[in-house]
Amino acid sequence: MSYPRCELLPGREKSLLRRHPWIFSGALKNGDAAFAPGETVLVCDHKGQALAVAAWSPESQLRARVWSFDAAEVIDGGFFRKRIHAAVQLRQTLGLLDPAGGCRLIYSESDGLPGLIVDRYANVAAVQFTGAGAEKFRELITEILLELPFIDTVYERSDIPVRAKEGLPERSGLLGGAELPEVLRITENGLSYETDLRNGQKTGFYFDLRTAREKVRNLAAGKRVLNVFAYTGGFACAAFAGGASSVLNIDSSRPALLQAEKNLRLNGFENHWENRCGDAFTLLRELVNAGEKFDLVILDPPKLVPHKGALLKGSRGYQDLARLGFKLLAPGGILCNFSCSGLMDAELFQKITACAALEAQVCGRIIGKMEQAPDHPAALAVPETFYLKGLISVIG
Ligand code: SAH
Repeated sequence: MSYPRCELLPGREKSLLRRHPWIFSGALKNGDAAFAPGETVLVCDHKGQALAVAAWSPESQLRARVWSFDAAEVIDGGFFRKRIHAAVQLRQTLGLLDPAGGCRLIYSESDGLPGLIVDRYANVAAVQFTGAGAEKFRELITEILLELPFIDTVYERSDIPVRAKEGLPERSGLLGGAELPEVLRITENGLSYETDLRNGQKTGFYFDLRTAREKVRNLAAGKRVLNVFAYTGGFACAAFAGGASSVLNIDSSRPALLQAEKNLRLNGFENHWENRCGDAFTLLRELVNAGEKFDLVILDPPKLVPHKGALLKGSRGYQDLARLGFKLLAPGGILCNFSCSGLMDAELFQKITACAALEAQVCGRIIGKMEQAPDHPAALAVPETFYLKGLISVIG
């Protein structure tokens, strides 16, 4: 197959040789070449040696994303079938293909499919195309997903702002197969969760927190729990399943809290919880001022460092939250705080948490760490794909 060629500037092949799949426009001699959005291109070094096959994104700074480091690879149905089947095989190995359950089936670069995210809710595949390359093959990808014996519906939720960077319109709707059920219900660890994929927040359910939910469940017996950034109540249900005595959920989204209420009731947790809608920073300060205390505080904010320039501001946000969290703990209490910012490394997050403990004048000890569940593999060659860090600290 002869694909059009793009050429790297001298010395700019290094990251590619380390199998990092992103090529920025500034690294290319012909970064402004008029290839079509999503077109498959051959990436060559400045001597003309072919290094990889990639998808072209004319609108994005991230001008090309590598499909394959085998420069002879043909990007067609055979290629996508192979990669998708490998991704499915991994989830099978992880024991995540229970028909009533859910998981992340395909995680972009980490599964060798940049720009493609697929979450499975029982027999429904929820798909996001976040790059021009994956977008170009949307029909083919839909067809291959529908060939999987456990998928009956492929539904798109590509209504995410990141598509604008790729010059792609936001889009959602049925891509193929059976109609989307009104409500999707999945079970995880014996608990049921519902997600409204049609009207709900674009993110659906956070499968990356599955292993963290398990840890929270195992720590929750008899505890008064404060669940901040509660979304649809995943941690709240897990905590009650582990024997929590009460849960206070805080989130700024009313629809998310309504879904949390439904999920709590669905699992038979009718009492001893309260949902408070509002800004977490403000509500936490109010709780501190009121002298409230909890035994387990969970802080799982949205990404506070969306780009490099936001590192300082985001770090302050994480520190403020952790300080308030520590202040709200009763003696012997436990703080579980998370950062899902890929641009904040684990070491910095731990330092920030340590500073917060000092500010709150508590002595903290780490008794556990959390990370993204294994259906969100972190590609060793792409450190950005290791994004979720959590610390479990107990105060003395
Ligand atoms: N812990 C959740 C996932 C959190 S997602 C889970 O277990 O599934 C982040 C959540 O933070 C979203 O529900 C969003 O509505 C909420 N959020 C964002 N900014 C907020 C703010 N300033 N105050 C309170 N909640 C906020």
